[in-house]
Amino acid sequence: MHDTLRNWHAHSLGKAWPAGPRVLVLGAGMAGLVAAYELERRGYRVEVLEGGPRIGGRVHTHRFGPGPGAPAVELGAMRIPTHHRHTLEYVRLLGLEGELRPFTTLLSEENAYLRTANGFVRIRDAARPLCEDFRRELAVHRPGLHHTHEVTVFGAWLTAVVDAIAPPDLREALRDDLRRQLLDLVAGVDLLPHLRGAAGDRVDLHSLFAAHPGLRAGCSGRLGTFLDDILTETSPALLRLHGGMDRLPYGLAGRLTGPVRLGHRVVGLRVRQHGVLVRVRAGGRTTVRHADFVVCALPFPALRRIRVSGLDADKLAVLDSVQYCPATKVAFHCREPFWRAYGIEGGASYTGGSIRQTYYPAVDGIPGRGAALLASYTIGEEAARLGRMSPRRRHRLVLEELGAVHPELLRPGMVLGAVSTAWGDGSPWSAGCTTRWGKSPEECEVERARAARPVNRLFFAGEHCSTAPAWIEGAIESALEAVDGLVARGAGSRAGVSGHHDPAGAL
Ligand SMILES: Cc1cc2nc3c(=O)[nH]c(=O)nc-3n(C[C@H](O)[C@H](O)[C@H](O)COP(=O)(O)OP(=O)(O)OC[C@H]3O[C@@H](n4cnc5c(N)ncnc54)[C@H](O)[C@@H]3O)c2cc1C
Repeated sequence: MHDTLRNWHAHSLGKAWPAGPRVLVLGAGMAGLVAAYELERRGYRVEVLEGGPRIGGRVHTHRFGPGPGAPAVELGAMRIPTHHRHTLEYVRLLGLEGELRPFTTLLSEENAYLRTANGFVRIRDAARPLCEDFRRELAVHRPGLHHTHEVTVFGAWLTAVVDAIAPPDLREALRDDLRRQLLDLVAGVDLLPHLRGAAGDRVDLHSLFAAHPGLRAGCSGRLGTFLDDILTETSPALLRLHGGMDRLPYGLAGRLTGPVRLGHRVVGLRVRQHGVLVRVRAGGRTTVRHADFVVCALPFPALRRIRVSGLDADKLAVLDSVQYCPATKVAFHCREPFWRAYGIEGGASYTGGSIRQTYYPAVDGIPGRGAALLASYTIGEEAARLGRMSPRRRHRLVLEELGAVHPELLRPGMVLGAVSTAWGDGSPWSAGCTTRWGKSPEECEVERARAARPVNRLFFAGEHCSTAPAWIEGAIESALEAVDGLVARGAGSRAGVSGHHDPAGAL
């Protein structure tokens, strides 16, 4: 599929390229592709430049082998929350609605495992050990303090969720918050309607926080802003795309009439009064393109590596200051989905250690071709540490650690292959995802607006320019805003794109 898109002109397949004004879109992730699609719908002639060898950016489905029956694993985005209306609109627009399936998330598969102080237990048996761990930890820091059963259940499960998902500093922040104020706040609300299980030893954190928004005041800055993501990621209202999330970007690219040029790395940008110069490296040659309009959908860390001129001081400042959190995923191609013998049909285990979370993707491929296991999903420092290792060392470490939970992995011939992506500082195309942890809603909006603000005819899109950073939803939202701005600005203007070899080094 990738090769057919390489420097691909849809009009060579018989589609007509619109005759309207021309725009260069930089980056073939979801933001760039949505921007390109929407601009073409409005009559613009669009060309997309992508530095990497594939489209989709941080939507990256890996297939262990050729053809649609190959086991697949998501190395980037893997789930769509049901309230992400832009994302679902494009799913529908691409005719993929029938391919949506429920996504079973962390703590939803009762037979999956959870790490406790005394080793791994099945989630269905985890309540008691988790509550014991929690009481023990609390007794060290607040000796003599006793909480009701309900409050202990709340503290134990919230700690388990945060320990599974959050980076180390937020795990510490949660413990501080619980001791200082959160448990006292929770003690003041009626927890009974939110307890689950025959013994009332589980808690529905989603219904609890929704019913008592005041509890958020008990979570300090960084944790408070991350809590939404934690609750979303463990929500029962999540979907996935059967056949792979990359059906979204490939579906969009398939609807474009203009070219999507892979292997075209942007290395310079210069904003001028009547347009933008874009310096592009492709096939060992550097050319400079002049465009009347550019939509830059590159992540800011990628943009920081590019020579830019003509940006004002505030734009340069926000370009430098937006923070990114690394993420690393390691996947194994297994001979068979051995976890099914343990009743695990999906969902995830909280494995902790260096590997943090292990997901069991749906076994959708042709039987006999094996199954994909998302052996490790980490963010923050743990992701950065794995990202700094060579792939070989990273895969070995994950295999050894996960082998303690699933000894089947250590059997000869069980692991047929391994693949990983470290979305961190070492990646040329992004450095993880935008975080605004610790910022107030007002500060978040100020940063978003500064990131998204166009500079003359250079428009910006990408999850970092949105109100939903680190989600596909945000990438789409930002693209729609950039397109609206460009259309408003471009109405009736003279427009064009030209390309030439750059002997004089115009940038
Ligand atoms: C591990 C992980 C898990 C995630 N899970 C989810 C999830 O479950 N659900 C969800 O909705 N979202 C998830 N996200 C977030 C989601 O993937 C992103 O928010 C979204 O895909 C970002 O799209 P974008 O277009 O802004 O950026 P990108 O997808 O990063 O696109 C930018 C493009 O620009 C290209 N580029 C970079 N530099 C250059 C250059 N110099 N020249 C030319 N091209 C260049 C890149 O190769 C890339 O294709 C996850 C992200 C990660 C990393």
